Amino acid sequence: MQLRTQGKLIGFVPTMGSLHEGHLRLVDVAKEKADVVVVSIFVNPTQFGPNEDFEKYPREETADVEKCEQRGVDIVFAPDAGEFYATNFSTFVNEELCSRGLCGDFRPGHFRGVATVVLMLFNVVRPDLAVFGKKDAQQVAVLRKMVGDLFVPVTVVEAPIAREEDGLAMSSRNRYLSAEQRKLAPRLHATLQAAVESVRAGERRAKAVQEQVAAALGEGEAFRVQYVGVVDAETMQPVEEIAPGRTLLAVAAFLGATRLIDNVDL
Ligand code: AMP
Repeated sequence: MQLRTQGKLIGFVPTMGSLHEGHLRLVDVAKEKADVVVVSIFVNPTQFGPNEDFEKYPREETADVEKCEQRGVDIVFAPDAGEFYATNFSTFVNEELCSRGLCGDFRPGHFRGVATVVLMLFNVVRPDLAVFGKKDAQQVAVLRKMVGDLFVPVTVVEAPIAREEDGLAMSSRNRYLSAEQRKLAPRLHATLQAAVESVRAGERRAKAVQEQVAAALGEGEAFRVQYVGVVDAETMQPVEEIAPGRTLLAVAAFLGATRLIDNVDL
């Protein structure tokens, strides 16, 4: 409260904890743009489906707080699930354009849970700006739309995907991969890069790119592809023709039981 009246810009990085370098890069971006940085750690029950990994989602708050301190975070906000949601909670935010398709088709209710908790967090933290990772491109699109549609007084900042040296997008779920799966995992990003090359070489047909990606991932039956989407970068809705700079290629695929997502701009 005092910080705000002192005219300090407040930057906010919402997370579900189990922090890795990808999260900490968002902190770096927030620090560049704001005077005070708040990180929230909250494994949000309403964004997990009944058969998803809410119970076994990794939780390591002590280590997370330490990482935040080392990276120069000013405030860590880690509400308790039981306390953050009122017992008779009954209000949800439904974004109905960007949340359709891609992950929205396979994780019903997920973006409703995300939009709701992010608005709740915004109302408690009251940041000037909030940083989200492009790793979850559809999430950023949904939140941008919510902020615009509902006049939420927060600037949404998108930070690039942080990757391991071999290209695998960093994720708290990567730890579920066996050594063998971990070796295969970079193929996801390599396949997306190959699609970028095809578009550079002149390919404009979304269907051709989708087929190229699905075929490359399916080879050797390593990945079980959930979706390959070629979509408008703002609305997340499918396009037939690729418009370089305005089109996103997004994939979700399983390696064993672990679901990986990744995306690139075409
Ligand atoms: P999560 O804890 O998975 O909910 O993620 C919290 C925030 O960190 C979200 O804005 C994610 O998009 C972002 N994030 C997670 N992994 C990465 C990554 N590899 N690169 C960039 N941002 C990421």
